[in-house]
Amino acid sequence: MQATVTHEHRADVIIVGGGPAGSALAWDLARRGVRALLLERARFPREKVCGDYVDPRGLQILQAMGCLDRLERAKPLPISHTATFVEWERHYRGPIPFYGLDDRFPPHGYTIPREELDAVMLGAAAAAGATVHEETAVTEINAGSEGVEVTAERRSRTVRYRAQLIAGADGVNSVVARSQGLLVNDPSRTTVARRAYAVVEPGVGDVGEAAVFYDESTFPGYGWMFPAPDGRVNLGIGLLSEARARFDVSMPSVFTSFVEGLRRHHPGCAKVELVSKPIGGIVKMYGGAGRNHFDGGVLVGDAGNFVDPMTGEGITPGMESALLAATTLVAALEAGEFHAGRLSGYEAAFRSYFDPSMVFLDFCAVMLRNRHLARPWLKALARGCQVAQADAGFARTCGSYFGGLEIRPLDIIGNVWLRSIEDVLLAWPSLLSAAAGDEGRRRGTSASDLIEWQAALSRSMLSDPLWHLRWTLDMQRRWAKLIATAARAPHDPRADGLIKS
Ligand SMILES: Cc1cc2nc3c(=O)[nH]c(=O)nc-3n(C[C@H](O)[C@H](O)[C@H](O)COP(=O)(O)OP(=O)(O)OC[C@H]3O[C@@H](n4cnc5c(N)ncnc54)[C@H](O)[C@@H]3O)c2cc1C
Repeated sequence: MQATVTHEHRADVIIVGGGPAGSALAWDLARRGVRALLLERARFPREKVCGDYVDPRGLQILQAMGCLDRLERAKPLPISHTATFVEWERHYRGPIPFYGLDDRFPPHGYTIPREELDAVMLGAAAAAGATVHEETAVTEINAGSEGVEVTAERRSRTVRYRAQLIAGADGVNSVVARSQGLLVNDPSRTTVARRAYAVVEPGVGDVGEAAVFYDESTFPGYGWMFPAPDGRVNLGIGLLSEARARFDVSMPSVFTSFVEGLRRHHPGCAKVELVSKPIGGIVKMYGGAGRNHFDGGVLVGDAGNFVDPMTGEGITPGMESALLAATTLVAALEAGEFHAGRLSGYEAAFRSYFDPSMVFLDFCAVMLRNRHLARPWLKALARGCQVAQADAGFARTCGSYFGGLEIRPLDIIGNVWLRSIEDVLLAWPSLLSAAAGDEGRRRGTSASDLIEWQAALSRSMLSDPLWHLRWTLDMQRRWAKLIATAARAPHDPRADGLIKS
């Protein structure tokens, strides 16, 4: 029988989880003089299923935390270029059009294996003065406006911790969120993903080009291949959880076909070989983010659904949510007030920071939710890539829906509509004249495309009228929210980042 020894530990703030969000929060609180205690289930370094890609905004935070120099010793490859494949045909290749425009951020991202990234970040939190207990799995939380009590299993012992406040940074299955009835489980805002490391032809993994792949099997979602250190690549697929269940998609089979597709179609992947077992995981996207605060605490990172709905990136927004939460927690400690009303400042802060970009990205994700529309959407995407390849301004503005550092929804919508109207106007005459049809095809759209949209919508309606209706209403609601947000906050605050030099 296991011996149960109870120890008591006290702190100002307990942070549950030592991923990027938890470590960023512990670092920020500790450097502001708060007694921060971070409890982490695993012993670091540990593997975390991820694409490992950190964008320039995330690198800026890592720099502020003093982590970047250390991470750069492993000589990660600066990722500054991208290739976009649609149905295995490359439609865009070139610089990532929205990097390097603002010298506050590095002009590139890095692929940093999480084993390394998370260990370095946890070290930075400890160096700033946070107390870190690894191998400590939190099992029970009792939180209220009078303080917090936490029970954890620590190396075969039951340990009790007390603090004024708690932050749940414990990922997608957060015990903290669950204990407060705030765990979100919405398949329409969750992506299932699978990834592995691989080696490719010499040279391919040495070029700083992140490749993304769209096709019917991963719709709505995408495949990726990111060059990682040591000539390896991180490759994987992500698919909306709801579509996976509705269409009974097997992720292991789609992953196998994806690797096979790379072998057959990618110029540098004829001999791609996996060097690790494929592992699955999920991400919970910002469209599902709820209140994220309660009597005695807050939720940050994946525990609070801060993932970009279009790219699935959660490292940077997780760290940003943590920095925003730190300000609210410090203010609550200063005021000696820990009730939900006092902590609601966090919700106001994250809504005003993330909504101007994320509400738009959520709307895009909702439009793409309908797997019946895969074919016409893929054609539209291919067309968008062709335009972007020829028009750098369009690439900068409209390409930003996928990982852009500044998102201007009304400019994107305006540009896309203008191009679409132009295409559609040129497509209709093709119904009447074969010659005009050739012109329409040359411009990338034909009357048959318009018919394809209609046919796909009809298929969706007939196959499940109730789902179709709910989806239409979801789109309308999100559209109304998008317009209201864009009118209220036309500037994207994420473009400025949270680190002030
Ligand atoms: C396949 C896949 C690919 C992805 N690719 C990318 C990408 O390329 N770029 C990107 O930015 N994002 C990517 N993401 C998303 C990214 O991984 C997450 O958004 C990010 O890890 C969130 O950080 P976090 O600190 O909130 O949570 P996590 O990184 O999940 O950290 C949570 C920590 O809490 C600990 N924990 C959990 N429960 C307890 C407990 N009871 N007690 C104590 N500790 C606990 C865990 O051990 C863990 O260390 C991907 C996700 C998946 C699944």
